[in-house]
Formats: sequence, structure tokens, C-alpha cells
Amino acid sequence: QSTSTEVKNSEDHLKVHKMKKKVLRKQLRAQHTLMRHEGIECISHATQSLVIANAGLGNGMSRHQLLRIVEEYGLVETLLMPPNKPYSFVKYGTTEEAKKAFDALNGKEVTLEDFDQNIVLYINFVEKVVWQNAVPTTLPPGLKVIERIISPEEERRMLESIDWIGDEDAQNAQKTLKHRRVKHFGYEFRYDNNNVDKDKPLPGGFPEICDLFLEKCLKQGYIKHKPDQLTVNQYEPGQGIPPHIDTHSAFEDEIISLSLGAEIVMDFKHPDGRTVAIMLPQCSLLVMAGESRYLWTHGITPRKYDVIQASELGQKVGTITSNVGDLTLNRRGTRTSFTFRKVRRSPCNCIYPSVCDSQKGQQTQVQPSFPHNEMEASKLEQEYVHKVYEEIARHFSSTRHSPWPRVVEFLRSLPKGSIVADVGCGNGKYLGINEDLYMVGCDRSKNLVDICGEKNVQAFVCDALSVPIRSGSCDACISIAVIHHFSTAERRAAAIRELARLLRPGGTALVYVWAMEQEYKNHKSKYLKEKNGSKDKEEINTAATQGPLSDQMPNNSSQDSARSGRLLNDSKDKGCDADSRLPVHTNRTSFHSQDLLVPWHLKGDTGKKGESVNTASFAAGCKELPELSSVFHRYYHVFCEGELEAVCRSLDCVRVLKSYYDQGNWCVVLEKL
Ligand SMILES: [Zn+2]
Repeated sequence: QSTSTEVKNSEDHLKVHKMKKKVLRKQLRAQHTLMRHEGIECISHATQSLVIANAGLGNGMSRHQLLRIVEEYGLVETLLMPPNKPYSFVKYGTTEEAKKAFDALNGKEVTLEDFDQNIVLYINFVEKVVWQNAVPTTLPPGLKVIERIISPEEERRMLESIDWIGDEDAQNAQKTLKHRRVKHFGYEFRYDNNNVDKDKPLPGGFPEICDLFLEKCLKQGYIKHKPDQLTVNQYEPGQGIPPHIDTHSAFEDEIISLSLGAEIVMDFKHPDGRTVAIMLPQCSLLVMAGESRYLWTHGITPRKYDVIQASELGQKVGTITSNVGDLTLNRRGTRTSFTFRKVRRSPCNCIYPSVCDSQKGQQTQVQPSFPHNEMEASKLEQEYVHKVYEEIARHFSSTRHSPWPRVVEFLRSLPKGSIVADVGCGNGKYLGINEDLYMVGCDRSKNLVDICGEKNVQAFVCDALSVPIRSGSCDACISIAVIHHFSTAERRAAAIRELARLLRPGGTALVYVWAMEQEYKNHKSKYLKEKNGSKDKEEINTAATQGPLSDQMPNNSSQDSARSGRLLNDSKDKGCDADSRLPVHTNRTSFHSQDLLVPWHLKGDTGKKGESVNTASFAAGCKELPELSSVFHRYYHVFCEGELEAVCRSLDCVRVLKSYYDQGNWCVVLEKL
């Protein structure tokens, strides 16, 4: 008997031991994720402050529930809940209280009240609770939200004017789309071509109460023209609409939308990745004109809860600020929107041709040619490197968080106190790698340098051919994935010479360029390997697979032939050889040319993937949505084996200490003579 008790005891012991090990493992993993993706450093000794993984607004924890949990262990001084993040910060009055909470809550399973789902909390100590609130956002230009534009009585009558059940006759087009119920008046909006049949008005017109409402809007100056098309959408909690821009050629400038039945948060996105979440209160009118109508996408994330300001539940119009000390989740109700638009009778001639279907055929997207002189080279780089990075900066940066190990190794090997320049520093991911160095970065893209600024690392804007740093003042330099953007051999050599100029004698430089050989010594590079389902978007080039440029031209065959005719004429006029046009590379395939254009698919979102500590517990039901995307082309010169070394050997101010191949890149370490 006693033996079996012993056995049971030791089994229990083992079980407890295993459990503890599992919790520790998960806790450490949370720690690494926080460091890698968020730059949040956890520490091993007890402090007043904790970071709690899986207890964030991003995975369905509400402010009031978390407060109740953490308040059990002492006085909570601060509770920060960053939007869309799967973690929160809590600061207690004393270290003892924080320690008590740590012991009780680390590895503890709790049930998310509103989702009936269990999650496990993992806790780490942090030095202090800080969260840089994002720069206060302003409304997209041309956008207005007018509160209480109608009375509850008018709201009721408008909702009653829509008969969702009967009315099955052809009078008003009604559809139950996958994500919401829709009904059209005036004209039917067709989802197959995102346009209206302009010659086929629907019989019956608008419900009378809508006409009265529109008269009021006209009189009060909210709109200039009376709309003739109405779309009524009904969203149940959990439903949404993918981000989109209303087709330019289908509707005029002003688009207005009434929110009835419940409030909702609508997300607006600029093509550069900026996003603004806007609260649309019940009985408010959203007016989109100008830039907000033509250039920004708008959409509703399908979820049952919105992140909103805690202090003013649903009352605050306009942008949801990122005051993380004041955010919570708000349960959605059934919202019905009345969107009024005026059908356009002539082509759109807005100032946003990149997103304008009316102007697409007119855009002369002539593929650039290989440069024949210095001026052409500089122009090519201006158009196909500088401009592109400026446009894609946010999205690009969001895919670049993991430093490459061998670059980190180089930076860690430098003596304490070294002065290091990162020329072409991008989003500054190497600038904080080794705190024992004095590092400064520079980049040609102002938007990327701005991102460095947000991370509080030192960087400035300049051209890599002329860096405003005193000669011989650096102990080391790095140039990672930069030189391949120069379009002539002379300019590539000049860029390396400029790098060498910054170095003191004996100083070293590490240079990485993209390799023509994406398969080396029978190993495929990561770039090639991630052809299917590129899960880890951190390599040198991670844009999705992309066909040749011709794939992106409009389907309209008459437009196509018109354009190809013009293309031919253009090239004849300029007397340039069509064969010298730069080929467009298909991503995740081998290179067939050293000089080429590599597509970048700009996504509206700024890369929220891979940030959740426990994605399985992401209860809010946020799925990926088809985004409005546009394609940019970046010029590259990919280097052949030995080419980078040869360029360096041609310079008499440096010698090559080391050269190697690393994940699809050719690399050298140089020493200044
Ligand atoms: Zn337009």
C-alpha cells in the first residue's frame, strides 16, 4: 500500500515538475517574442511592474476583466492596454504586490468573459511601464463625422422603411452577401464589376424619408449634389466589409453614410500604410470627400468587439487615439448603414491616378531601360529606388524586424566605444543591436528615417554617394542591402569608396549585396525556399509571387492594344532599343538577368502578423482581408560570384579581409588602408 502511495506521490511530483517546466518554457517564449517583435525587455528580478502576455485587447481581454484580475493582488497604479496587442502592462504600488501577482497569475488559466474561451497568462517583470502613445492621428483629409444628424424618431422611421423580409420582387435589389445584408435603391451596385448599370435605374426610387433627409443635408451644406444611389448595409456583430475605395468611375466625389442602430469603428488606410480608426456613433453621418474618398480605403473589420476609448463609451466622435491607459473593448450591436452616392456620368479626372480606374489606361507605364549614362542612371534610381522606398516605407519596415545573424555578429565583435555608421540603415534595425557602440544611421528615404526616429535611434537623410560625415571618423561601417540599388558599375564603386572614406585607417566595413546565385553549393536561399507560403517575411525581399508587368495591365483589350501601340511608338520616337528594357523579376524564382525590376506588393496593412504571443487565443475573430494593393518596382543589380570583391579590389583605399555567401547575398569585410 505504502509503495503505491509513494509511486503516486512521485508521479504527482513529476506531473507538477513537468507543468512548471512547461509554464517556464512558455513564459520564456513570451519574453523572447516581446523582445523580438516589440522591443520590450523583460528582467529577471522582481519590480513593481509586469507585462502580462495573452491579456491584451488584441486577444479579447477587456479592461474591466483584467482590472478585476490584477486588483486582487494590490493597488494598481497603472494599467496600459495597447490596441490590437496580445499583452498588457500593470504597475503595482509595491514590488511585493507585483511579486504576489506574478506568483499567483503566471501560468494561470482564465476564461475570457465575453468569448467563453480559456487562455493562459504568462507574466514577466519589466523595469517600468512605458508605452509610447502613437502620434495623435488626424482625420483623413476631406472626411467629416457629424453627430446626431437625425433624431431617434427619424432613425426608427428610416430603419422601418427597409423591408428585409418581404419585398422579394425585383423592385429593389437585395442580396445577402457573405458578410452582411445589402439592399440597393436608385441603381443597383454590382459586386462583380464594382460598378453600377448607369442606364438601368431601379424603379421606385428612394424611401420617402430618405429624400427628406437628403434635402436637409443639401440645405445645411454637408453635400453639394443630391445623391441618386442608395446602398443599405446591415452588419451583425462579427460581420464587416473588406477595405476598399468606392470605384472612381462609378460615383462622384461626395459619399455620405448614416450609421443607424449601433455605433461602429471604421478603419481608414492610406496607401503608405497609415491607418486611422474612426468611431462612427449611432445617428451620425460620415462624409467622405476629396482625398478620403479617392485615395484612402475604408473598411470594417469583422469582429464582435471594437477597441474604443474607455472613458467615453461610444460617445467620442472621430479618431480612436492610442492612449493605452484608456482603451477597452466595446461589444458591437446590429448596425445599419445608409450610404448615399451620386452616379458619375463622365470619367473621373481626380488627382490620384494610381488608384483611379478612369485614368488607368492613360497612365504610361513604360518599362524603364538600362541606363546609358550618369544622368539616366540617377534618374532610374530616383524613380525606381528612392521614390518607391518612400512610398512603401511603412509596409517595408513592417516586414523587416529580424536582424541578420552574421551582421549582428559583426557588430558584436567591434570593440566597446566604436563609432559606427550604417549607410542605408532602412528602418534602423541594426542601430540598437550593440549598446556598447556609438551608431548612427542614414538612409535616402525620409519615411524610413522617420521610422528610425520613432524607435529613438539616430538616423538622418542622405545619399549614400555623399554622406555628410567627416572622413576617417568611423571605426566601422555597414552597408546592408544597399549597393545593389546603384545602376552602374561606376556608381557601385563610388558607393563603396564613400563608405571607405568614412573609415579611419584600420577601420572595417561590412557590405551585403543581393546575389545573382540564389542557389549556392546545392543550397537554395531562403528567398527561393519560401516560394510557397512565405511565413517568415523577414528576408531581403519578401514580396509575393508576381508575374510580369503585363499581368498588371487592365483587362480591357482595346485599351491594351492602344497602349502597346503607344509603347511601340514611344520607343521608336526615342530611338531606344526595346531589348534594353529592364525585365521584371518574378518573385521567389531564380534571376535571369543581373539588372532588373523587382515587384513590391504594397499592402494597406502595416504587417500585424507574428506579433501575437498566442495567436490561437486571438478570440476577436480578426481574419485577414483582401486588401487594396498596388505594385511598385524596385531596380536591382544582383551581383555575380566574385563581382563584389572585384569592385572592392579596384579601389586602392581598402583591402578585402573576408568574403562570403550568406543566404542569397554576397558579403565582404573590408579594411581601410
Ligand atoms: Zn479618380
